[in-house]
Amino acid sequence: MSVLVLIEPDDELALQAVTLARSLGGPVQGISIGPADAPVDVLHVAQVDGSYAPGAWAAAVVQLVERLAPSAVVAPGSDRGNEVLAHVAARLDLPLAANVTEMRGDEVTRQRWGGSLLEEARLGEGLKLLTAAPHAFEAAAGRAGATESFAPALAEADTAVRVVESVGASTGGISLAEAKVVVSGGRGVGSAEGFAVLEELAGLLGGAVGCSRVVTSAGWRPHADQVGQTGTKVSPELYVACGISGATQHIAGCKGAKKLLAINGDPEATIFAHADYAVIGDLHEILPAISAELRKARAA
Ligand SMILES: Cc1cc2nc3c(=O)[nH]c(=O)nc-3n(C[C@H](O)[C@H](O)[C@H](O)COP(=O)(O)OP(=O)(O)OC[C@H]3O[C@@H](n4cnc5c(N)ncnc54)[C@H](O)[C@@H]3O)c2cc1C
Repeated sequence: MSVLVLIEPDDELALQAVTLARSLGGPVQGISIGPADAPVDVLHVAQVDGSYAPGAWAAAVVQLVERLAPSAVVAPGSDRGNEVLAHVAARLDLPLAANVTEMRGDEVTRQRWGGSLLEEARLGEGLKLLTAAPHAFEAAAGRAGATESFAPALAEADTAVRVVESVGASTGGISLAEAKVVVSGGRGVGSAEGFAVLEELAGLLGGAVGCSRVVTSAGWRPHADQVGQTGTKVSPELYVACGISGATQHIAGCKGAKKLLAINGDPEATIFAHADYAVIGDLHEILPAISAELRKARAA
């Protein structure tokens, strides 16, 4: 029996999903919505017009599952991969194991709570639906052995939810996910205007500004700037956490940082347990002082 993998063009996580699929044994078939390439034995290119619509993508996957009868469907552990496979699971009335790190027969290990917990579970008989935890597998390399095109039959309801607009991030050209330095602010920043001192330091360090969920909920920064379990996962050389308490859901987004500098007025703040460097004090005094020192050092 084959394994079917959902492929997104130019997506490193999809190539990691192919590696998980290969580990399950048997030929690996891919499905992409529109043109793509990936190291699978046969790539089925679904002809679906228009922008991303999770229902339409799921309908295409389900129709191919009915035709190929694979032993498993694997998707990348991206927002889209998880969303499409959740739709597939609902349509097929099957369980979905998201963020899988290992598969042994019917047993699966998967990440929960933003990666802070590993769960061992047993999947039932029949078709298995899995998404590959990001960066738990090497990316597979190579090209598709063969490509076939197919046109899934779509109902009007399949495209009722679709992307109508994409809004770029507001990080001054440096992507939060790829920035080498992230200066991130929490409730302690106090207001949208209070982020000026973070912007200044991030500018001097060639970094991006991030924030906690409290900040996006208050409307001080856009959601695209949020770091955490329900935001962006960052892995910079340096993460500067300013006025952030260190909730598990926030740490889930910045634990990949090589070094963490925490600035917080409360010496008991949880963030200090995760910090390589700690400054206890008011961020509105400390950040301008750091920026001033950087300017002085560069002028010398
Ligand atoms: C399902 C779920 C998903 C979530 N996802 C996310 C997520 O993706 N990202 C996220 O961030 N949160 C997330 N949260 C929310 C999370 O639980 C916390 O509520 C949030 O991270 C707290 O934000 P904060 O640290 O900015 O605020 P607080 O916890 O209120 O901390 C503010 C900190 O600022 C310090 N402070 C105050 N004034 C100053 C000052 N002048 N100088 C220095 N320090 C000061 C205080 O000592 C305090 O430690 C999620 C929660 C749930 C339930």
